[in-house]
Amino acid sequence: MVQAKYLTGDSAAINEFIDQFDVFLLDCDGVLWSGDHLFEGIPETLEMLRSRGKRVVFVTNNSTKSRPDYQKKLTAMGIPSNVEEIFASAYSSAIYISRILALPAPKNKVFVIGESGIESELRTENVPFIGGTDPALQRDMTPEDFKGLADGSLLDPDVGIVLAGLDFHINYLKLSLGFQYLQRGAKFLATNLDSTLPMNHTFFPGAGSISIPLIHMSGQQPTALGKPSQAMMDAIEGKFKLDRARTCMVGDRLNTDIQFGIEGKLGGTLAVLTGVSRKEDWEAEGAEVVPAHYVDTLSDLRGSTA
Ligand code: PLP
Ligand code: CA
Repeated sequence: MVQAKYLTGDSAAINEFIDQFDVFLLDCDGVLWSGDHLFEGIPETLEMLRSRGKRVVFVTNNSTKSRPDYQKKLTAMGIPSNVEEIFASAYSSAIYISRILALPAPKNKVFVIGESGIESELRTENVPFIGGTDPALQRDMTPEDFKGLADGSLLDPDVGIVLAGLDFHINYLKLSLGFQYLQRGAKFLATNLDSTLPMNHTFFPGAGSISIPLIHMSGQQPTALGKPSQAMMDAIEGKFKLDRARTCMVGDRLNTDIQFGIEGKLGGTLAVLTGVSRKEDWEAEGAEVVPAHYVDTLSDLRGSTA
């Protein structure tokens, strides 16, 4: 069985590890911070990586925020960043729609289930959309809605894509609209499929749990655009001209981050123990996703001697 190598406290091994890579893809929540709590020594660790000539890319599945929103968060946390170094699942979804799917108008409109981060990334890519945070959808369904959905009069004929992300105001009306569009042939996309959202030392429903009802009712699987989707990896590779062999994915969640790096055939995967997964998860008999290396916290990389 493949074993994960523990690096904390071993400065020679840490040095050798860092030297193997030019680029570090950094998951955010669970690696840099937990919610609004920045982990100790993170800005200094990123500074150390940059001073050694490493490129860092912030890769997050959080679909509720746009890249500029994320940059504000990084700045507030004392982490200098450029918006171009941020790759979030809302952005990943927007560029997949505009540059890969590139559906011809007028049937290129997106019905969004999700928050404002998705809307602003779609706007930046000039992708037409409806739904999202539209106040008209934040309500119960009426008998007229049932009729209008059945005869199609409540539907926009230009919708060709349903995009589902985390929506804190999910309701029966939005699910019914999404289902109607899918039944009429719209493509089904999801920003990411995280089952849960870790917050305040417990778990809440994640974006994947918003897609599950749509998967159940439609019998279709969405194309996911967040980790571990390789559509996201391909987009990152194209944008940053990655040499995959000299790139390391750092994350706290085995079935998103570490799987993303393994499936993407990156040169390295580094798990941290400050988030969701525990080392028992990859040390368990028959564990399918095993990181190449792990540390207690990302700041342990400062324990190098270079
Ligand atoms: N989705 C949402 C809505 C979140 O708020 C978060 C974390 O803040 C995540 C997903 C997971 O993000 P990451 O990929 O940075 O761990
Ligand atoms: Ca994470």
